Amino acid sequence: MRGKIFKSIWLALLSVLTLSFILITGLLYTHFTNEQLDQLRSETKLVAQSLAMDGKHYFDTLGETDFRITWITADGTILYDNEVDSSVMENHMEREEIRNALRNGYGESSRYSSTLLERQLYTAQRLPDGTVLRLSITQATIWNLLLHFLLPMAGILIAALLTSLFLAFNLSQRIVEPLNTLDLDHPLKNRDHTAYTEILPLLHRLDDQHKQLANDREELLKTSQIRQEFTANASHELKTPLHVISGYAELLESGMVTTEEARRLFAGKIRAESQRMSKLVGDIIDLSRLDSGGVGMPRELTDLHRIALNAVEALQSEAESAAVTVAVEGGPTLLYGVPLVLYSIIYNLCSNAINYSNKGGKVLVTVRDLPGKAQLTVSDQGIGIPSEDLDRIFERFYRVDKSHSKEVGGTGLGLSIVKHAAGIHNAEIQVRSELGKGSDFTVTFPK
Ligand code: ADP
Repeated sequence: MRGKIFKSIWLALLSVLTLSFILITGLLYTHFTNEQLDQLRSETKLVAQSLAMDGKHYFDTLGETDFRITWITADGTILYDNEVDSSVMENHMEREEIRNALRNGYGESSRYSSTLLERQLYTAQRLPDGTVLRLSITQATIWNLLLHFLLPMAGILIAALLTSLFLAFNLSQRIVEPLNTLDLDHPLKNRDHTAYTEILPLLHRLDDQHKQLANDREELLKTSQIRQEFTANASHELKTPLHVISGYAELLESGMVTTEEARRLFAGKIRAESQRMSKLVGDIIDLSRLDSGGVGMPRELTDLHRIALNAVEALQSEAESAAVTVAVEGGPTLLYGVPLVLYSIIYNLCSNAINYSNKGGKVLVTVRDLPGKAQLTVSDQGIGIPSEDLDRIFERFYRVDKSHSKEVGGTGLGLSIVKHAAGIHNAEIQVRSELGKGSDFTVTFPK
């Protein structure tokens, strides 16, 4: 960056220098030419007056002069020239300044020498007796000037080059230094002493990005911690039934169990534990699918009421064994959703309502079609949830009463699945519960 700034400044300085040089040379040259012309004109007037007064005797008194003076008759013959013998000079009738002087009383012209290094300026004036007086002066052309001043100009150019190099180097350093000394780890700390107020929005954006990164990092750490905890919990939950199964299997294998009744009892325990394990594995698979945020789960127009009827039907035998009655209220309620995921919400909430109800309890599933939203409520009259646990029941493997949960075949993952499944549908969950009186779980889906 510094190199680029340096190059730009240096190029800009060089361009300004070159342009100024050309302009100043042009202006000076024009100025001097005009000065010389003015001088030539007034000198011509003076000589013309003197010649008109003294006649050709005037030339006898003429001393050293910078001007060439020529006196010409009306037919172009040279009467006098102060530099060349007039008798050898050709007729001057065709010269532009002479022609104009004869015609208009006064004429001017200029001609370059063959080398273009010199230019001759001419002024001619007609005298009262009809003759013409011509004065001329040699002027160095701009090329001649340049040629003469080549050496000093080269010196000036080198000095200018070196100065511009030095200036460009210093300027680029001064421009870049405040940027190099910025504390990018704490962007807003530079706010009060930065030389460039223009970069304040950039510093604010950088600060926002820092904060965003820190948040993302914290989130990632939290997620990784949750994953680790989940893996540890899941392994533990799977190990317990495995231990029980292998214990009973060992007993059966050893031949120590002699009665048919005991054998049946142990085989039943092995089956129950295997079912628990298989339910747990099923829940873990469901959760990991939902963890992806619903990617690859196509949504379709679904009737929430129909799904509620299906889920309740599937739980009928569980409800009967628990001596709980389950009813579904409401009518067709359409929403765009993933049918299987919606099913798992209703299934898990109803299963909990049955499992945490007392014998003879009633569970009511209500589906409401409201303006812009669909609402599902699962209410029971069961044991209720202590208010201090309400915030935690959606955590993985969190149970209010672990032994009760195990007794009813819970995995501790049901409400986590509900939370994720609702999240995929941008739905909100509300829980109202009173210890000993029952719980209401309400899920509100935007349509
Ligand atoms: P579990 O498989 O143990 O039921 P969940 O994640 O489904 O796991 O629920 C977490 C805990 O929340 C349960 O262990 C239970 O203590 C409590 N809970 C959930 N639903 C109800 C309910 N309807 N009534 C009382 N307690 C409930």
